[in-house]
Amino acid sequence: MSDPVTRHAPLAGRAASRRAEPVRCQICDSVTRPGLDLGHQPVGDLVLSEAQLGEPETRYPMQLFHCGDCGLCQLGYIVPPEVVYREFPFVSGTTQTATRHLQSLPARLAEQFGLGADDFAVDIGSNDGTLLAGWIPYGVAFLGVDPAGDPVRIANERGLRTWHAFFDDDIAAQIVERFGRARAITACGCFAHIAALDSLMRGIVHLLTPDGVFASDNQYWLDMVERVHYDNVFHQHLRNYSLRPIERLFERYGLEVFDVERSEVYGGSIRFYAGHRGAHPVHANVERLRDVEARARLYDPETHERWCAAVERRRDQLFGRVFDLKREQKKIIGIGAPAKASTVSNFCGLGRQWIDYITEVNPLRIGSYLPGVHVPIVDEQWLFEDPVAPDAGILFSWNYYSEIVPKLRQHGFHGEVIVP
Ligand SMILES: [Zn+2]
Repeated sequence: MSDPVTRHAPLAGRAASRRAEPVRCQICDSVTRPGLDLGHQPVGDLVLSEAQLGEPETRYPMQLFHCGDCGLCQLGYIVPPEVVYREFPFVSGTTQTATRHLQSLPARLAEQFGLGADDFAVDIGSNDGTLLAGWIPYGVAFLGVDPAGDPVRIANERGLRTWHAFFDDDIAAQIVERFGRARAITACGCFAHIAALDSLMRGIVHLLTPDGVFASDNQYWLDMVERVHYDNVFHQHLRNYSLRPIERLFERYGLEVFDVERSEVYGGSIRFYAGHRGAHPVHANVERLRDVEARARLYDPETHERWCAAVERRRDQLFGRVFDLKREQKKIIGIGAPAKASTVSNFCGLGRQWIDYITEVNPLRIGSYLPGVHVPIVDEQWLFEDPVAPDAGILFSWNYYSEIVPKLRQHGFHGEVIVP
């Protein structure tokens, strides 16, 4: 059986035996300081089939490390990309909020930078092509690049041209040869996921026109800290970005961050715009956000220690609530099965004895099981048809609260909604 989880089991063992070696910063190579440790966990996005429940399952270290130099907060252990992306059951366009947000980026870029029919844009980690479709009204030619087979097939079937590949300097050179350079390059929710950072950056530098713009949405480390969003830690998410390390990274490649925005997507995110150094005027937003990070003491070890304590309190509260409900014979389910559901369930020990099932709308996940804890993932519709209506639902997809909760209420779910 070519299951990626078991196929790569020896890698985890090798890494564990090298544990004494210091973890170096993925951006500046400095030795890092250990931070929040969520234990060993399976890869959260790799949901299991029923047959796989009877097989061995690999868990990988899930601990954060902090760079005292550039300020990056990163995972200490990188799961081999071929394990993570071989069968990647995630599609971008499953909620209207995500679709709107992704498609707002081409609109913004086209309007602000005057992109039109003569221009070419590339989306890195384009998934099912949700963002690419946002270029259509502006007549901009586009290409997506993504390593996950199923979403790429969906995109190409929808006529959204997408290459099935990991984006790197080699792919960038092939794109330039075939289509020319891009005036816009986007990378949303994936820029933190690419392990070969140097090759990625060299690819961007090569692909971007001299006046081009690179724009990227990422979970914002400051929001994760202030809101105690530890469930945004998962194995694909190698780097938790904030402005200081991003600026340091781009400087190294002759690029410059010239504007930055915050938004609520992903539960708090940072969108930054970069170009070749000097190509665009630097907006006051950049200096403003540097000040915000300094005032929040985002790079202080004491801040990270306080955060670890807050995460542990959050875990105890969630488990305490679940324990109380179960003692009263209540039925608890989960709502939404993104990777963060795996992080929370595995960290808090919430298996099938606590959660009956998790509802989901993504057809690539329905019928599978959450890794590690093996809670079944069912079609959301079951929540409304279940003869024994659940008393409470843990909303793992809390970042879509305002879209999901009214919908559940409207369809007849009246149980308690617990935000983990
Ligand atoms: Zn660093």
